[in-house]
Amino acid sequence: MRTDPVIQNDPATTAAGFADFLHRESKTVPTGAAFSPAIVPTSIYALPGRAEGSYQYARWSNPGWSALEEALGALENAQSAIFPSGSAAIAAIFATCLRTGDRVLLQSDGYMGTRTTANRLFAPNGIGVEVCSTTQIASRTFEGLRLVLLETPSNPGLDLVDIRDCAQRVHAAGGLLVIDNTLMTPLGQPALDLGADATVYSDTKLLNGHSDAVFGHVSSRDADLLAGVLEWRRVCGAIPGPFESWMVQRGLETLEVRLARMHTNALALAQALERHVGAHAVGYPGLSSHAQHALAGAQMNGYGCLVGLTLPSELAAERFLQECRYLRPCTSFGGLHSSAERRARWGDAVAEGFLRLSVGCEPTQALCSEYLRALDAVGR
Ligand code: PLP
Repeated sequence: MRTDPVIQNDPATTAAGFADFLHRESKTVPTGAAFSPAIVPTSIYALPGRAEGSYQYARWSNPGWSALEEALGALENAQSAIFPSGSAAIAAIFATCLRTGDRVLLQSDGYMGTRTTANRLFAPNGIGVEVCSTTQIASRTFEGLRLVLLETPSNPGLDLVDIRDCAQRVHAAGGLLVIDNTLMTPLGQPALDLGADATVYSDTKLLNGHSDAVFGHVSSRDADLLAGVLEWRRVCGAIPGPFESWMVQRGLETLEVRLARMHTNALALAQALERHVGAHAVGYPGLSSHAQHALAGAQMNGYGCLVGLTLPSELAAERFLQECRYLRPCTSFGGLHSSAERRARWGDAVAEGFLRLSVGCEPTQALCSEYLRALDAVGR
């Protein structure tokens, strides 16, 4: 039960609003016309005479992009800019918000690629890059920072940042707060309502949801910020393909049902695993044993699709990956099918036996039974 009515925009209203959006043309589409947006694979548009109109050259605009950006914007009551990857969306935020001499704060235990982008591409041009752990954010001063870019829950540790508190403190210090909302999605965490200036997403994960496209986007209610992001895309040419845009549009239409199943599954699985003697530790914001369970209930709708499972050793973890039928051994997360990996192989500060489980849309009971069976088998 929600104890703190922090969220202004309640999840049912958001989901209903999105359904309204998806049905907005149900009665007005001309007879014989398709309801789904067209894929427009072109580099040119007819442009005789004066250069005017929405579509002049395909690095600047595409009808499929417009349709997808409208749908993504509708999810957050914002404007959106799509990119060919989440990394390109993050780079666009850095390029738009930071100038030489500015300082940016990132998490030391957040997505590694965000720090790599900042350190390799922006630090050499005079941007100060600072890091601290997610658990230090609550007591960290934001004075002197132009930009704070945070991921919550952090990944793979699943520690939370209080978005509302951070937004107030970052703004009081004169900076911008951007939330990487990849894990929770706009339906799972209304980061803009909680005060963030912009959100960034790797749509490669849940928004597309089918593990068959790399994609990303930025959303914001700050028209100047979004205009800067769009200008960056137009000039540097980090543009998405028309086909991938269409794929993400199609994936997006089932986001709500996928998310609901994934959240149900992840909670049921985390609770079942926590009771099993073979699990050294289980981390999930939906468990009452999670240190920030109350904040998770107040700030998020559902608790996400990632579960941290620590087994006694690297060997036990690798055996579990082999043994469990409902689990694809791969990196990334947020797909329809459950997957997992041992994060120590990438150098994350976790135990050798730590597995990041990405819980998918399999039938709940069958999923839990199979994971418990595999744990039993590993323990034998
Ligand atoms: N943000 C988060 C939280 C991620 O996990 C990732 C990729 O794993 C990215 C951003 C980068 O996204 P992409 O791989 O689409 O470039």
